[in-house]
Amino acid sequence: MPTLPLKAVSLLALACVALSIAAPASARPESAALDLELRAGGFYVGLTHSAEPATALSSDRRSLGSRPLHLRETGWDVAELQLALAWQGFPSGRIDGRFGLQLAAALARFQRAVGVPADPVAAATTIAALRREPPRASIPLAWPLLAPLGDGFGPRGSRFHGGLDLIASAGTPVTAAAPGRVTWAGSRPGGWGKLVTLSHGHRVRTMYAHLSTVRVKVGQWIAGGTVLGRVGATGDATGPHLHFEVRVGAAATDPLRALVRIPDVTESVQSG
Ligand SMILES: [Zn+2]
Repeated sequence: MPTLPLKAVSLLALACVALSIAAPASARPESAALDLELRAGGFYVGLTHSAEPATALSSDRRSLGSRPLHLRETGWDVAELQLALAWQGFPSGRIDGRFGLQLAAALARFQRAVGVPADPVAAATTIAALRREPPRASIPLAWPLLAPLGDGFGPRGSRFHGGLDLIASAGTPVTAAAPGRVTWAGSRPGGWGKLVTLSHGHRVRTMYAHLSTVRVKVGQWIAGGTVLGRVGATGDATGPHLHFEVRVGAAATDPLRALVRIPDVTESVQSG
């Protein structure tokens, strides 16, 4: 068991680095402006990391819901649709205001997940569903390791980061956030590197990416806290860190909404 002071120092570092790294890296002005506009329109927007001045907004934009959006349409409202779907857990690649096949596929996946008609133009029922809060994990999840936070769940440059980065040195043990069954263990294409995916029931899955080594096998049932592997930089990673995702059904969700809080320790350190 870690001692209280060790835990406290880790959490203090975590809080400081979260402020200093996550904030500037998370959103370009255009993403922040889109976020503000979505929020103003009543759409679901998660934790925002920056508040760009409204002067960054262009004046001739149409807001999401003001017209049907077809394949190959372009515009500010298409970018809003891309970002709104991403906040609901269905990112579609670059947030560029172009209605391409990736966006059409993400829209269809979202509609299927929330049970609204599969219209291809983002009509009223879809717009209403984009205003609802997305599902959150119904089981408590433990931190897979205690380390400073890198990028969080949200816009990152012109894309959307679907998980939480925990910055730790290569070789740091990564543990299961909850009991579950291993459904992926090993290299996976698409930038994941060496990945472990656990299925916990209750429609909740957790994913641990960029590992240097994997210690579990597909099909294995494991207890919470079991070492799954070690931190690495495999796949699309510029340095050693754990990319941690929490899926509820088909949707990626913000891990910070699911991970257990350890508030007492943090607060006692900050006040001391
Ligand atoms: Zn990441």
